Formats: sequence, structure tokens, C-alpha cells
Amino acid sequence: MPIRILASDVVSKIAAGEVVERPASVVKELVENALDAGASQVTVEADGGGTRFIRVSDNGSGIARAEVELAFERHATSKISAETDIEAIASLGFRGEALPTIASVAEVDVLTGHQDESVGTLLQIDGGRVISKSQQGCPRGTTVTVCNLFHNVPARLKFLKSNATESGHISQIVTQLSLAFPEVKFTLVMNGRTSLRTAGNGNLRDVLAEVYGLETAQSMLAVDYSASGICGFVSPSSVSRSNRNYISFFINRRWVQSRTLTYAVEEAYQGMLMTGKHPVSVLNISLPPDSIDVNVHPTMCEIKLRNEREVFLAVQK
Ligand code: ADP
Ligand code: MG
Repeated sequence: MPIRILASDVVSKIAAGEVVERPASVVKELVENALDAGASQVTVEADGGGTRFIRVSDNGSGIARAEVELAFERHATSKISAETDIEAIASLGFRGEALPTIASVAEVDVLTGHQDESVGTLLQIDGGRVISKSQQGCPRGTTVTVCNLFHNVPARLKFLKSNATESGHISQIVTQLSLAFPEVKFTLVMNGRTSLRTAGNGNLRDVLAEVYGLETAQSMLAVDYSASGICGFVSPSSVSRSNRNYISFFINRRWVQSRTLTYAVEEAYQGMLMTGKHPVSVLNISLPPDSIDVNVHPTMCEIKLRNEREVFLAVQK
């Protein structure tokens, strides 16, 4: 075959493999967009492990009618404009890939009411193609509905786990985002049942009570190591779990998974927990934006730290 540039719909489907690995990735991208839009309330609904239906509603800024289609173009973003912006990312998203990617592998409806417009906009897209656009009354904010995820990529559907497992991943991502943003009121409705509801009052201990239970939340010790930009909560030695899933890190409010930092926390508990037991911790780490590179992983759940050793030692301490 001769060399050729791939058509854009083929490119989006390839990208979908990286950005949208599973239903929980869709939830992550949509909630992050809601947070970037300044929402104080975010509701996530999912059915059938997220493959049948995902809906994320927010009360953020909304999208201007004239820009709704543009939001679904590849590399279209309102969050950065120049290369130098990449060195100091203040938003969760910036690549302009999530919406087009999701729209290329699902049926998507977006209903959005922009803060400066009196009437809302409804855009329907299927397999990346716009089906209809109309005006519709709606409150300020955005609701994105994603149906039949991966219906046109059978290979990916085959790799998904059971609905229960996929629902678990959705629940995990919403939980982590609610811990990262205690000032935002999160509601998660799974198969019609409300499984998480946070107050959005800015109090992290209250979110901990919602997600890990009142008793654990009350026992957690506050950490405020401001010299190193670290604050949050850690469990006392009397509280532990049998896996590491309860050790969370947020770097500049982004949930990151880091073996190194997890190890730092475990090290700090050395000799205090029984073998096979792990602590509970939620640590917010603030770092100068130019000391981290978030652009090393397609979903940005891993990031590169310029002074990893320093951060490791600070977390351990
Ligand atoms: P990115 O988040 O990297 O900019 P996306 O594809 O996720 O890319 O979104 C494209 C653009 O659509 C965003 O830059 C933003 O301007 C707009 N947008 C998406 N979701 C929302 C939302 N919930 N509220 C307001 N604007 C949104
Ligand atoms: Mg985004």
C-alpha cells in the first residue's frame, strides 16, 4: 500500500483506544470537562456498566451555541492556545481530544446552556457525524449523554469486563474526583440507584465520611505540611485496609497513580501495620506547574515529576 494520511474518522477511532479505554474513561473526561467549566454540581448517571448509557450533567459555564460543533472537532480546546501554555496547565483537560473521541465511538447528545445566552443548544452526534442541532430551553450548564458506547468498535467491546467491574471503575473515578474537589457537590447514580452523594461544602473530611464511612473519616489524622505543599488526611495505625486502593494522591488537583508515592506512604507506616495491611490516605500535593509534565500519558493518570526524589521524601516525612 502507498503511504497516505489517514482520514480523520480513522484517526479518532485509533485515538479512542488511548483516551477512551473503557466506560470509566468517558466518565473521567466528561467530569473533568465539567470541573474545568467551573461547575459546583456534577451528576453522573450510568447504566449497564456505562456501555448502555452514561450521562454527566453540570452547572458550569456551558458552551456557546456557535462553538458546540467545534467542541467535537479534534484538537479543539478553549483551555490552551500556545505551546508555552503546556508548561503551566491550570485545567484538567487541554488536548481537545475527549469529545471528538467519545463521539466517534458512541451516540452522543449534548444539551448546553451558555452563561451569556438565554436559550440552550441541543446537538446530536452519532459515530462522529452531526445528526441534528436545535435550540432548547435549559438551565446554565452542560449535560452530555453517551449511549451505546463502542457499538461501532466491536473489538473494544470484547475487551470490557462484566458490567459490575466496569461500574466499579466508574465508581472509583467519581470517588477520586469527589475527594479531589470537596467544594463540588457530586452525585453518582448507578442503574437508577444513588451510590454516592457529597455535600460540596469544601470539607474533605465530610467527603471521606461519604466514601469511606463515618468511623474511618473521624479517625483520620489531618496532615498539613505546607512547607512542601502537602495536605490531606492519613489513617492512624489502628485503621487499615487489605489493599492499596485507599491511598490517593492529587497533584495540583489531578488524581495521579504513582507507585513511587504509594511506596513513600507505605514506608512511613513501616512497623505500624500488620503485614498485608495498608493505610488509608488522601494527599493533595501542590507543585509549581513547570515542575511536572502531565503530558506523558493519554489519560494523564500518570505524570512526570521533575523532583521526584524530593516529593517522595516529603510525602514519606
Ligand atoms: P479539552 O477538555 O482538552 O479542551 P474536550 O474535547 O474534552 O477537550 O472538550 C473540548 C472543549 O469543549 C473544551 O475545551 C471546552 O471549551 C468545551 N467543553 C467540553 N465540555 C464542557 C462542559 N461540560 N462545559 C463547558 N464547556 C465544555
Ligand atoms: Mg476535556
